[in-house]
Amino acid sequence: MRPEALYPLFAPVTTLSGIGPRLSALVAKAAGPHVVDLLWHLPSGLIDRRQIVPIATAPLGTVVSLRVTVDRHMPGSSSRAPYRVQVNDETGSLTLVFFHVRGDWLSKALPVGSRRMISGVVEEFNDSRQMAHPDHMVPLEEEASVATVEPIYPLTGGLPGKVMVKAVRQAVALAPELPEWLDPALLVREKWPSWQEAIRRQHAPDNTGDLGLSPPWRCRLAYDELLSNQLALALVRASLKRGVGRSLAGDGAIRQKIIAGLPFALTGAQERSGREIAEDMNSGSRMLRLLQGDVGAGKTVVALLAMAQAVEAGTQAALMAPTEILARQHLATLERMAAPAGLRLALLTGRDKGKARQKILDALAAGEIDIVVGTHALFQADVAFHDLGLAVIDEQHRFGVQQRLDLAAKGRAVDMLVMTATPIPRTLTLTAYGDMDVSRLDEKPPGRQPVDTRVLPLARLEDVAGGIARAVAGGTKVYWVCPLIEESETSDLAAAADRHDYLRTLLGPRVGLLHGKMKAAEKDAVMAAFAGTELDVLVATTVIEVGVDVPAASIMVVEHAERFGLAQLHQLRGRIGRGSARSTCMLLYAPPLGQIAKARLEILKDSEDGFRIAEEDLKLRGSGELLGVRQSGVPNCRVADLLAHDELLAMARDDTKLILAQDPDLESPRGKALRTLLYLFERDAVVKTLRSG
Ligand code: ADP
Ligand code: MG
Repeated sequence: MRPEALYPLFAPVTTLSGIGPRLSALVAKAAGPHVVDLLWHLPSGLIDRRQIVPIATAPLGTVVSLRVTVDRHMPGSSSRAPYRVQVNDETGSLTLVFFHVRGDWLSKALPVGSRRMISGVVEEFNDSRQMAHPDHMVPLEEEASVATVEPIYPLTGGLPGKVMVKAVRQAVALAPELPEWLDPALLVREKWPSWQEAIRRQHAPDNTGDLGLSPPWRCRLAYDELLSNQLALALVRASLKRGVGRSLAGDGAIRQKIIAGLPFALTGAQERSGREIAEDMNSGSRMLRLLQGDVGAGKTVVALLAMAQAVEAGTQAALMAPTEILARQHLATLERMAAPAGLRLALLTGRDKGKARQKILDALAAGEIDIVVGTHALFQADVAFHDLGLAVIDEQHRFGVQQRLDLAAKGRAVDMLVMTATPIPRTLTLTAYGDMDVSRLDEKPPGRQPVDTRVLPLARLEDVAGGIARAVAGGTKVYWVCPLIEESETSDLAAAADRHDYLRTLLGPRVGLLHGKMKAAEKDAVMAAFAGTELDVLVATTVIEVGVDVPAASIMVVEHAERFGLAQLHQLRGRIGRGSARSTCMLLYAPPLGQIAKARLEILKDSEDGFRIAEEDLKLRGSGELLGVRQSGVPNCRVADLLAHDELLAMARDDTKLILAQDPDLESPRGKALRTLLYLFERDAVVKTLRSG
């Protein structure tokens, strides 16, 4: 149960005063639906009203405060015309300009002859100084209430800055004093404040330096976030590893048959990873291993050998893919490789319904299926295994911690192998997976030709299309990728459909179209036609991003490459260069391209090393902007910056080890405080895995 002290923070933002239904929707959009979200909504700037300046020398275009005497009122000549009030000080005069304001209100607020402090932006207009709609106009006795520093928060359309400031101020006031979860020695060493104090300081900047990543309060809050992340991952891992594991030691007979039937020899990296996995499965404790390998590194066969071992040991194996297309493709590949060993494979996806589905479920429950390949459908409550020994999760970045727990619950001490091709940098691996055991396929199968990558402006599109016509005539297959813009899926489809029409006009009917809105059966048919002989060109949105394998495709064109994350482009490019032909990838960008954007695309030109690419991308753009990261399951850090705070991350990892070694169930006073930390960062599901949760 969430500690009572946190209740006010998990109330909806509507409970704050001045935030009705309309504004709360906007606040929720900008920050999040709960009061606690406002605490993590950090100021992006500040307005300093402490500087009181003379009218004549007031800097233009920024917020200033002035002490003035009201001189005269000049109502507009018509209701449309602005109402003006002239004010002055010893140095000059200034016109305050108001639109749509009632004169009687202004006469009260600014009586002629009175002294006022006003604060706002001074501008020059026809040689005279003026200020439209001052933010504040108060008698001098009250100037202390105006001459302050106000934080500026990121907003969303229609949400006034003042509303956000007021909402956050209330949230900060609600932030309770919480039991300290950090080691007191650490606090002393780093000079970090308490959590409550850190929250207060973070939202009360005094100067722009206070908004940076290095003040002690920011580091403290970042550390809290990273610690909650590391602790959550470690606890999930502990709960998965808990209890008796089982040894899935096979006799190697099935694996031998599979290896004998392969048209290639395993690479050193495949052998090594295979051995690591086999040892984990042999051992009595539960396997929780990440198989990380760049696209094309050959993860599938390593997974198949692991699944074969599970079958040798008398259990079943499941392989879960993120999409229907991938599940089908995996099944086809696995069936081909598993045929010599006589394994029984089946597919289970959301498309299987009624009797057909029931048949598969019955066979699974009866143990008549050795390996089942599927999508999320494998999680469903009525899916029961005879005895699930190993779960392989492909492209795991689309699955969350909860799903890992769900799948594990389908069997008794199920071993888990998670495959990912997302070349996430090492720091991010840690935040996404914690200290999972990792096997890396760091060596590609031999004979791969490097992909020739070119970066071209979109204006060259017709040339590119012409070149493709020639290549297609020579028997090459081509991917043509149109970008997906999150906000407007329909206009993307339109763009892809237009390109499809255009290429059809140019190349004839052997051009197909694949997009996310198509029905699964249609997608399969198009993919099959492209993999087979019917289609030469496949125009697609990013649905082809992961896994799809058509060795004859050796050209890829990506439109608006600048809109993609580098990791994503690298994944896409991994679809070509799989056959023996020399491959070309053309990245078309829309000018003008900024320096960073240009540098990013150049990295792809220079490197095919997914890890290097991801590290460079991270350096250039910062973790928050890594497009691939949002989909990669790397938790979205709100306070921590994975680049600037990487040392904090390492500290949090070590701290986590120490904490769990001493107090694995978080039962000591500090352990209880750490539970509060987990709740604060909404890791409720993780707390439930604790024995006395
Ligand atoms: P990944 O899933 O890691 O992107 P795949 O498992 O799909 O890669 O393998 C990519 C291609 O390389 C497949 O066509 C596969 O048959 C082939 N392949 C895998 N291992 C080897 C190897 N040791 N030697 C040659 N080709 C291999
Ligand atoms: Mg794959």
